[in-house]
Amino acid sequence: MKILVINTGSSSLKYQLIDMTNEAVLAKGLCDRIGIANSVLKHSKDGSDQVVIEKDLPDHKVAIQEVVNVLVDEKLGVIASMDEIAAVGHRVVHGGEKFHDSVIINDEVMKAIKDCIELAPLHNPPNIIGIEACQQIMPNTPMIAVFDTAFHQTMPTHAFLYALPYEIYEKYGVRKYGFHGTSHKYVAQRAAAVLNKPIEELRLVSCHLGNGASVCAIKYGKSVETSMGFTPLAGLAMGTRCGTLDPAVISYLMEKEKMSVKDVNDYLNKKSGVLGISGVSSDFRDIQAAAESGNERAMLAMDIFCYRVKKYIGEYSAVMGGVDAIIFTAGIGENNGLIREKVLEGLEFLGVGVDSKLNEVKGKETDVSTPDAKVRTLVIPTNEELAIARESIKLLK
Ligand code: ADP
Repeated sequence: MKILVINTGSSSLKYQLIDMTNEAVLAKGLCDRIGIANSVLKHSKDGSDQVVIEKDLPDHKVAIQEVVNVLVDEKLGVIASMDEIAAVGHRVVHGGEKFHDSVIINDEVMKAIKDCIELAPLHNPPNIIGIEACQQIMPNTPMIAVFDTAFHQTMPTHAFLYALPYEIYEKYGVRKYGFHGTSHKYVAQRAAAVLNKPIEELRLVSCHLGNGASVCAIKYGKSVETSMGFTPLAGLAMGTRCGTLDPAVISYLMEKEKMSVKDVNDYLNKKSGVLGISGVSSDFRDIQAAAESGNERAMLAMDIFCYRVKKYIGEYSAVMGGVDAIIFTAGIGENNGLIREKVLEGLEFLGVGVDSKLNEVKGKETDVSTPDAKVRTLVIPTNEELAIARESIKLLK
């Protein structure tokens, strides 16, 4: 059975075609600059080199049609016809409180996803466009929605509610939702496999450290706390996002810098985080290089980033009454041993112990702990596309 996985952004569309008999990626690619001049389709099959095809992609529907064309293309394609695709799994960012799990999309589900636009005005609209375009092109193929928020719907009320007047939650649904759920769930399941223990017996802290970054407390297989909030702006200091700050800073900034609501939103989302602190880059490779050549603000950005992750590990260990393993995943978590080391420094009291040689690993599933460490430290590459494909198969059955 083959599953097409689609992840739509405002001007991009990533896809993977996965053969679920052996979970092999048959083809994958990206439509970039949709609706913008010089749009391209980058495609590769069976792990071979990427082919860059210049194509006019005025909207997502055209982009999806081009993806379909390339998948069945005689030379570049991997299937004879679209009938070979059993289902399309869509990443949907926000499922609000309505979705605790992935679902097969019908009219009612579509309406509910549209109702969530208010909560994710930047993310849900392109996801919806992607689903509708696929429905038009493949009317007989089941469409499946996999939500970033769904895994966190198990958080208890005292964890997700902000200390605002309760009516605001009732009226607008203002609360913590959390994101990166598909990734946190996937790496938690992999962690249980690596540790050879049932997930129902494990207390895990999952650190998804990419451009966007969040930490999740997973107790006995369920998310009980996470660092992102009502939006993906909360929590850790990220590439360009500020993470948690005193909310009074916002009105102060608006007053002092004469910022509008949009200005301040852009400032906190796009100009802050490690980019804002370092003044160098949002990318940790650049920041690390600058720090190594003596740039103090780059060093400070790394310190602030690591300090916050460390604090969440402590906090979530308290929330779960202990911790059995700490997971590092996503671009930074999987590849940056120095960041992992700095995060874990001083956590020996919890039972953490890291083997510095093993911790040099990049992008490979590895237990990097010392043999006697009570709390295991695991590097686990995330794979959100495979997780979406697995969810899709589960629902088809
Ligand atoms: P996104 O949230 O956009 O998916 P990623 O998970 O790709 O982000 O993470 C981006 C971050 O990961 C960057 O700061 C980058 O420095 C780091 N990163 C990605 N790949 C590598 C690598 N191979 N080696 C070191 N750092 C990497």
